[in-house]
Amino acid sequence: EPSSHLRWSESPTAPRVDLKTEQPHSARIYDYLLGGKDNFPADREAAEQVIVGFPQIRTTARQNRYFMARAVRYLAGEAGITQFLDIGTGIPTSPNLHEIAQEIVPAARVVYADNDPIVLVHARALLTSSPAGRTTYLDVDLRDVETILTSAELHDTLDLTRPVALSLIGILHFFPDEVDPYAIVARLLDALPAGSFLALTHGTPDFAPAESEQGAQAYRAHGVAVQLRRREEVARSFDGLDLVDPGLRVVHRWRPDGDVDVDVDVDESLTHTQVGVYGAIGRKS
Ligand code: SAH
Repeated sequence: EPSSHLRWSESPTAPRVDLKTEQPHSARIYDYLLGGKDNFPADREAAEQVIVGFPQIRTTARQNRYFMARAVRYLAGEAGITQFLDIGTGIPTSPNLHEIAQEIVPAARVVYADNDPIVLVHARALLTSSPAGRTTYLDVDLRDVETILTSAELHDTLDLTRPVALSLIGILHFFPDEVDPYAIVARLLDALPAGSFLALTHGTPDFAPAESEQGAQAYRAHGVAVQLRRREEVARSFDGLDLVDPGLRVVHRWRPDGDVDVDVDVDESLTHTQVGVYGAIGRKS
C-alpha cells in the first residue's frame, strides 16, 4: 500500500542508459515496495515473491526510509553536519536526503552515489539543491571505493578536511561477506576526518529468521545477492566509532520522536518482527 508521505518525481529528460529491464534490480524492487512507479514487470514479480516469503517487507522498507529522514535531521540539526556522502541513494523519493538536510542547513552539500542505471535516469530529481547548497550525483559501484574517494564530484562538492556524514542506508545487506563490506566501510571512514559520522541500516534475521530468510532467498532466486546479518555483525560496522544515543536499534525505535514531517508514520506499536532492520549512527573521534 503506497504511503501518502512519500512522493515520486516525474521522469526527467534522461540520459540514455540500458535499464536491463528483464533483470530485477534492488533499487526498483525497493521502489515497488515503497509504492513507487519506477519499476518493471521483472522487478514486481521478484518483489511479490519477496512479499510471499517475508510479508512485512513493505513496512520494513517504509520504516527504513523514515529512519533515513530522522537520522539526517539529527545530523544536520543536533550534530551540526553540513556535508553528506550518501551511497546507495535509491530512486528519488521525496523527501530526499538533501531536502531534509537543507531544510535545516540551506548550505548543506550532498554527494549521492548509486550504481543502478534507473537511479542515474532519475538523478536530476536529486540535483535540485537549494541555491546556497549543492548536490552531485556519482554513478558508481560501492565496491569501487577508490573511484568514489578520488572522484572530482566528491572533491568539488565536499571539503574532506571538515566532518562528513557517510550514509549507507539499506545497502550493505546487498554485500555478501565475500565482498568484505566491513573493509569498504573502514576505507571510507579512513578518508573522513574526526567528527564525521556513519549512518547505516541493515536487514536482520534476528526477529523472524524463517520469513526473512525466505525473503532473502526470493531476492537471490532473482539474481540479487542478499546477506542478512545478526545484531553483532551489524554492530561491527561501527567498530572504532562512538554510537550516538540510543545506539543500535530496530529502526522504528531509533529516536522515534525525532522532529520529522514523516514521523506521523512512525508507529511505535510496530514490533521488531514487523520491521527487521537495524539502524544506528556512529561518530568518529
Ligand atoms: N538508501 C535508500 C535506498 C536503499 S535501496 C533508502 O534507504 O531509502 C538500496 C540501493 O543501493 C539501491 O538504490 C541500489 O541500486 C543500491 N546499490 C546496491 N548495490 C550497490 C552497489 N554495489 N553500489 C552502489 N549502489 C548499490
